Amino acid sequence: MFYFRCESRVNGDPLVVVITRDSANKKTGDMLQVWILPLESWRTTLCTTGNCGSCPRGAQDDYRYRDFELRKCYVQWQRAPLAIHRAYHRGAYEIWTGNAKQREALGGDGRPVRLGACGDPGVLPAKVLSRFIAQLATKNVTGYTRRWKARGTVYLRSVCMASCDSEQEQFDARSLGWRTFRARRKAERILVSELMCPASEEGGSRTTCAKCLACGGGYRELLLSPDRVIIEH
Ligand code: SF4
Repeated sequence: MFYFRCESRVNGDPLVVVITRDSANKKTGDMLQVWILPLESWRTTLCTTGNCGSCPRGAQDDYRYRDFELRKCYVQWQRAPLAIHRAYHRGAYEIWTGNAKQREALGGDGRPVRLGACGDPGVLPAKVLSRFIAQLATKNVTGYTRRWKARGTVYLRSVCMASCDSEQEQFDARSLGWRTFRARRKAERILVSELMCPASEEGGSRTTCAKCLACGGGYRELLLSPDRVIIEH
């Protein structure tokens, strides 16, 4: 498929962003997947501060944020992300320019896109991300960011949910103007502003993200569309 390179807005590390067309993920369904990875091939982990920011579930190259016992990263880095990273370094992907031929190869304009199949979309420079989304010519975008507390991330609110792990975080993110996606423990309550994710097991696995598309951030939706919640797995 396609890739482009940029620098992390968190620490300037070189990143490679890969766009794949087909997804085996039953929950997300048929969406373009955007993988945000460190560029270097020598790394022993693909979850770094450069591509994941200071996510408390990851940032495994930064000891300050190690928190493996409490919360685990959702991404199985040794599986698809590693395969994609290796494929990139083998030269399997074409550089992304966003031309009509490439968009056609991705299934045509308007296809749903999942930002951050791995990595945090909030590490991409604002101009890079907005140009990329404009090139994809779609309004159907979902994304999640742990960088909702960081300065200068307001632009992300239109495409990403604030990823939260507690009621307090949900409250804080909401106060800052974000829609939220919260991972709760089974015993924890669902808040009045929240709806259960309909693609989750507890939500009855009734749909996929490609059809639901509720997790696309948004300003107008802040008032109209409730936040989403899922039991963490
Ligand atoms: S609420 Fe909708 S878009 Fe969000 S994770 Fe669940 S199914 Fe996907």
